[in-house]
Amino acid sequence: MSNFGKLILVPTPIGNLEDITLRAITVLKEADIVLAEDTRVSSRLLNHLGIEKKLSPHHKFNEHKTVSSLISRIQQGNKVAMISDAGTPSISDPGFLLTRACIENNIKVECLPGPTALIPALAVSGLPSDKFVFEGFLPQKKGRQTRLVQLAEETRTMVFYESPHRLAKCLAQFSEFFDGERRACVCRELSKMFEEIKRGTVQELYDYYTANPPKGEIVIVVGGRSKKGK
Ligand code: SAM
Repeated sequence: MSNFGKLILVPTPIGNLEDITLRAITVLKEADIVLAEDTRVSSRLLNHLGIEKKLSPHHKFNEHKTVSSLISRIQQGNKVAMISDAGTPSISDPGFLLTRACIENNIKVECLPGPTALIPALAVSGLPSDKFVFEGFLPQKKGRQTRLVQLAEETRTMVFYESPHRLAKCLAQFSEFFDGERRACVCRELSKMFEEIKRGTVQELYDYYTANPPKGEIVIVVGGRSKKGK
């Protein structure tokens, strides 16, 4: 334990275990405490990496309760690493609350560069990547239509996370609220054995995924409204 505690957000692979960085391995080995969203999921990763470490659960059901004791432990000099089930903590995953509390308490926070689903999806989509918005998961019920109406005006490329069983419904709504002719890209199972990248109009993608119901994890990238109108 050093005199200076800190919080380090550590991205972990979204599918391919070779995507862990050398720095992430070092940080996980050297951390005094490793927080994990699901300790069973993360212990498989740590076993694979040959890291023997007790994991402390930190997830959306306990994070409000554990933040203050974690702040005290970091203030005592502990280096705390946080991992989520996959990708970068705080990106549609736990991490934001503790990060904000550390900043409010003048505690150093670092985030290692590393795996996340949104950036490979954006880069591979072929849609303009100079400016984009990350929308994460759309609200499932309340507020969904309102958000879609607002996003219909968005001129930047949009990136969404979506579950496979809601993909077709989501594409149907993009067609209804945006335009069926908008260019889009569905990225399924990025970095995994059955990775699939499908590009086309929203309507074409809707037709494809209605005929071929998808499995696995999905990112949808949608072109923004053209400045001329649609
Ligand atoms: N923290 C993660 C990140 O940095 O991307 C995101 C966690 S969020 C709970 C999980 C969602 O991310 C999935 O439902 C899917 O939309 C997206 N995702 C994660 N892994 C993916 C993959 N291998 N391929 C496509 N999408 C993925």
